[in-house]
Amino acid sequence: MGGRAAVFLDRDGTLHRELERAPRSFDELEFFPSVAPALRALSAAGLPLVVVTNQSAVASGEVSVAELDALHAQLARRLPITAAYACPHHPERGLPPYARACTCRKPRSGLLERACAEHELDPHRSWIVGDARRDLEAGLALGARAILVLTGKGERELAGLDGALRARISVARDLGEASAQILAGHAAQGR
Ligand SMILES: [Mg+2]
Ligand SMILES: [Zn+2]
Repeated sequence: MGGRAAVFLDRDGTLHRELERAPRSFDELEFFPSVAPALRALSAAGLPLVVVTNQSAVASGEVSVAELDALHAQLARRLPITAAYACPHHPERGLPPYARACTCRKPRSGLLERACAEHELDPHRSWIVGDARRDLEAGLALGARAILVLTGKGERELAGLDGALRARISVARDLGEASAQILAGHAAQGR
């Protein structure tokens, strides 16, 4: 299949603190301290950075698709983020056409598959970083390496992981530590 190595990033709890209300603008986002330098280091190593995020706030009517797109455009302008893909659905709750089962809501891997097709990425040479089990599962399903960060709900999620899944992932304190793991692995596999 070929394609480039990349880093898939969960958004809420991985890049920035999770907010009570879904954010609409970049200035509302409280980024964790290591995030900006980590993104710059990964990008400097030639790794495309792709945000993959479940945003059922769209299904619930809290934010519109246009608002979410605008926020993600700001994200890509202010940080070295290549692209952002969001699942606007919720399987049970919300407004049509978003209240439905879909193939993009993590732990399903539809968002990552779309990103791989549109940006010629090879999931087998890539990583996913997230603070939730479902992030890890979405990446592992495609053969990516998975790193759980302990920001956001990461601590709680780690405590709930079964041994089989725990053995397939690595853990990092935050995105800064995750980026160091990725850069070491990326150097080892060559570009
Ligand atoms: Mg998260
Ligand atoms: Zn979806």
